[in-house]
Amino acid sequence: MKRSYVLAIVFLSAWLKCFSQQFAPDVAAYIKINTPTYAITHVKIIDGTGNPAMSDQTVIVTNGKIERVGAYNKTKLPTGIQEIDGTGKTLIPGLVMLHEHLFYTVMAGSHFNIAEMPWSFPRLYFAGGATTIRTGGSIEPQTDLNLKRMINEGKMIGPNMDVTAPYFEEASNYDIPSLNIINGPKDAVATANFWADRGCTSFKVYVHATRADMAAVIAEAHKRNLKVTGHIGAVTYREAAAMGIDNLEHGFEPSSDFDSLKVPDKINDYAQKLSLLKLPVKSVKMNDLMQYLISKHVALTSTLPVFEPFTGRETFPGDAGGALITEIREPLEKLCQAQQGKDGAGIALFKKELAWEKQFYDMGGLLLAGSDPTGSGRVIAGYSNRREIELLAEAGFTPEQTIKICTLNGAIYLNRQNEIGTIAAGKNADMVLIGGDITSDIKNIRKTELVFKNGVGFDSQKIFDSVKGHVGMN
Ligand SMILES: [Zn+2]
Repeated sequence: MKRSYVLAIVFLSAWLKCFSQQFAPDVAAYIKINTPTYAITHVKIIDGTGNPAMSDQTVIVTNGKIERVGAYNKTKLPTGIQEIDGTGKTLIPGLVMLHEHLFYTVMAGSHFNIAEMPWSFPRLYFAGGATTIRTGGSIEPQTDLNLKRMINEGKMIGPNMDVTAPYFEEASNYDIPSLNIINGPKDAVATANFWADRGCTSFKVYVHATRADMAAVIAEAHKRNLKVTGHIGAVTYREAAAMGIDNLEHGFEPSSDFDSLKVPDKINDYAQKLSLLKLPVKSVKMNDLMQYLISKHVALTSTLPVFEPFTGRETFPGDAGGALITEIREPLEKLCQAQQGKDGAGIALFKKELAWEKQFYDMGGLLLAGSDPTGSGRVIAGYSNRREIELLAEAGFTPEQTIKICTLNGAIYLNRQNEIGTIAAGKNADMVLIGGDITSDIKNIRKTELVFKNGVGFDSQKIFDSVKGHVGMN
């Protein structure tokens, strides 16, 4: 063999190695597209920017990146390229979901029990179109960090992960055994640094954390260029924004700003909920709060799926029940039938929440999306991502706005908008091919066919099927 020929092979294989990713056999079994270059043709694109959907488009992917996007009749295909026919289908960016958990919640006696789902949940998120997630609070941070690494190494199926440290919560009558309890700001600082040193890249303060706790966590995180979010209560939204918090979770439902008898650093759950029920949908007070949050660049995360179970609709929103083990699914179904239509306050607040999130977005606020698969144990990862999209549409967002909230906005928050979040030349080929037109019916979002991460296309349905009957166990 000629020396130059041998050298060429060496170079070629080294080059291919750079671009091809390694996958364990039980990950590879779910891959449908894994060629260095291919084109998706005749597809409708919602590109994540909020711009109108474009029909009959071509996307060319090369070595894990989007190389070209253009109208089919104006985009020349390289000869011999593999073509994926997207006729009748919609292509959206991979979802960037910012309030996810790798645990499932179910009651244990009279306490709220939380169990890590290290196998099923990463798979489900990914099958449901999420290529990037931020966890919104962690109960097993070491597991979450290991999962992140194993997914990146191709040993497990799942999205890219921004791992949030354990909750910053003061002791309270909530008595949730899995929650991390801190004891004042000094402890909060030590906890933040401990987990940041181990790879956690976000922090979440919880309901009973005080202003001093929050200020300490924010200062420490910001020193490291990391971000802080909160599901708060003892601290009002306005106070948190003034202290420089980056993000608030669950829309406006946890806001204690409207409780006129509120004591600083304390939360009265009942009075807080009542104050929101009394607040009209359109009010000067809410408008002022929104304006203040926007002026302080505080992002707001919509987590509509976690509230939906209290509105008397489907038992498992998004048709997710089949994912659960029978021992959990059956009692939950019975409980739901007994409670059907009984929580009127839940419905009233849910409707307000939809309107408030739309108002915040329309005023120019950065609205993010998450699915928070917790609460009643009826919200299941993956199914919940698609359900969030349907619920945002119910709030009055166009399909294009809905996709933007669930893609580009999340990428902007994570400072990753140059790599992910839209379908554009130069970005990572993180995309979802949907087997229907979501501009004619948003429910077509449930027809996720292929989920692409760094250009590698996975079979969504096959992954969903592999997890059936597992959630609640592993
Ligand atoms: Zn949560």
